[in-house]
Amino acid sequence: MNLKDLFNGEKTVFSFEIFPPKRDADINTIYTTLDQLHYLDPDFISVTYGASGSLANNSTCEIASAIKKQYCLEAAAHLTCVNSTREEIDIMLERLANAGIDNILALRGDRVPDVPPKEDFPHASDLIRYIRASHYDFGISAACYPEGHPDSPDMIDDIRNLKLKVDAGAEHLISQLFLDNGMFYSFLEKARIAGINVPIEAGIMPVVNKKQIERMVTLCGATLPEKFIKMMEKFEHKPEAMRDAGIAYATNQIVDLLAHGVDGIHLYTMNNPYIARRICQNVKTLF
Ligand code: FAD
Repeated sequence: MNLKDLFNGEKTVFSFEIFPPKRDADINTIYTTLDQLHYLDPDFISVTYGASGSLANNSTCEIASAIKKQYCLEAAAHLTCVNSTREEIDIMLERLANAGIDNILALRGDRVPDVPPKEDFPHASDLIRYIRASHYDFGISAACYPEGHPDSPDMIDDIRNLKLKVDAGAEHLISQLFLDNGMFYSFLEKARIAGINVPIEAGIMPVVNKKQIERMVTLCGATLPEKFIKMMEKFEHKPEAMRDAGIAYATNQIVDLLAHGVDGIHLYTMNNPYIARRICQNVKTLF
């Protein structure tokens, strides 16, 4: 099923993101995670691909295929392009198609330090155009950035480039995490004015420890609202309190987003079924 067909106005879409185990870790740990996540009945689960600057991880395809075949849920495989040649992308597309994957989240990816990027696909829009022009019939999603991508000089430039991705064939967008819903609403307004009319899912990451948010802020530059900073300061040395406060913060964000009628919520689960379950218990009846 093409993910865009989930956005049919019947209900707000609720999806999860997971990442494959690290290269030297046991692949089966992800199936233990999925055993628990699938009971929460998300509309789809997306699987990252070599995220955070690690080398491309080929288990993305295998895990996305298991989500469809073993867990009977819709799946999206992330695919990055900046460190891949056209031939490598061809191989991945064939693998994904053969594995029965219907949806790709097409990304540029982060540049790997000390490794010069390949030249075939400088931007996600190049990959999206390439997939669209291929003989495959994948649903194509792309990333968007409520606070602008860190490489962008300003929001206008970033939205202009986002429009290029949609014009190239992206049918659905998933946002970077944000902690201030106001930033998401402001982004949404600008995107709609720019003529970006595809469904846009809000990316929510429950922040349950200080190290996690420091790492994410370094990577994506998310703004930390005053009330969030206060929460971190108060609970950072009490792990259980910090966890519960992080779950409550994410719950409040989701309730407010649903009240504002967003197209969907994409939960960055961090492969933690306990936290995903607690959030689902809080908000499931609201969808
Ligand atoms: P692009 O859309 O190419 O944008 C990157 C920058 O280039 C932006 O500043 C943009 O404005 C600019 N730009 C775009 N097109 C043009 C153009 N034609 N001319 C000039 N400038 C342009 N990373 C991973 O490695 N693996 C993952 O699985 C992964 N999953 C992600 C999922 C989500 C929902 C999100 C939000 C991010 C994810 N990332 C992942 C991170 C992502 O790869 C990085 O943010 C990366 O730096 C940019 O990817 P992009 O696809 O948004 O790039």
